[in-house]
Amino acid sequence: MSARRKFLQTLTHFGISIPFIKNSLLDRRVLPLAEKPVSLPIIICSRSEAWGRKVLEPAWNTLEQSGNILDAIEAGANVVELDPEDTSVGYGGLPNEEGIVSLDASIMYGPTHNCGSVAALEKIKTPSSVARLVMDRTDHMMLVGEGALRFAKAHGFREEDLLTEKARLIWLEWKENLSDRDDWFPPKDGKYLPRKRTTGTINVLGIDAKGDVAGITTTSGLFGKIPGRIGDSPIIGAGLYVDNRIGAAGATGRGEEVIRTCGSFYVVEKMLQGLSPQEACEAACQRIVEINGGLDTGDYDDKFVAVNKNGEVGCASIRGRKGQHPYVSIISNDGFKTIEGSALQWME
Ligand code: ASP
Repeated sequence: MSARRKFLQTLTHFGISIPFIKNSLLDRRVLPLAEKPVSLPIIICSRSEAWGRKVLEPAWNTLEQSGNILDAIEAGANVVELDPEDTSVGYGGLPNEEGIVSLDASIMYGPTHNCGSVAALEKIKTPSSVARLVMDRTDHMMLVGEGALRFAKAHGFREEDLLTEKARLIWLEWKENLSDRDDWFPPKDGKYLPRKRTTGTINVLGIDAKGDVAGITTTSGLFGKIPGRIGDSPIIGAGLYVDNRIGAAGATGRGEEVIRTCGSFYVVEKMLQGLSPQEACEAACQRIVEINGGLDTGDYDDKFVAVNKNGEVGCASIRGRKGQHPYVSIISNDGFKTIEGSALQWME
């Protein structure tokens, strides 16, 4: 443990607020724009080993073949979007309150500082690819709902049913257990147990050999959301932010908290002010806790991942479960690895 971290822990022990102390460190060195990056290229994603490999190996192969970091992160994001087994992103994602799968995604490219996003997009398996077209082929940055669908179809995307049998059964179980004051009954054998609503999402962030930065965030959003609800993932600065001077950050978890703290922008700004990606991700988690008035005031959780042009990676969540969450996977010339991030509170 670094001396600084030990120092901060001791302060916390005596009831002194870490966020305040961290802010006093913000005058530290700002990464010079011309500083030569090391360990590049690098691509990271907000998943543990199994999904990390599935996503990052094709992303890396694409980068090797095309040299294009946008192609690479899109190829990685598409893997999880197209996989029906993942219930938090793209095809197979858990639906909204009415059983309709409604997807959010964003993309951002450092050299142009351009971005594109889609929100509440239905029937298209790969929303991150539609977001990329919004960035590359329109003068807009965000398309939602019916307009986003029409735009996707204009570009040749096929409308498909995104609700898998697995997702439908999870949704039905949730719906039938919502209330004992409505007309939906769970099965008489009592097989359903009310479950916590799950979260998911993936951030895929990359920096190419020249030091150009790009990022994608893609999700089916909060399971059981009110139709029309848009989370943080398609909102630039919330679920994703990229700054070619320093790096990229992405968020997962309760989007409402990330929106009201401009979470990913906050992480990137902290990196610009001199914090490491790890310190910046922790600062964003602390900010959310701070505006909520403490860790015990609600059941929210959020996680940030970030990477800078030195090839340093950060991963932090508000609440962690040892061996389960939070993780970040990384691929670079040094190979593939998964590392466990930090958490403000470890749960059983
Ligand atoms: N952040 C996403 C949202 O709020 C959900 C998630 O990451 O699980 O839509």
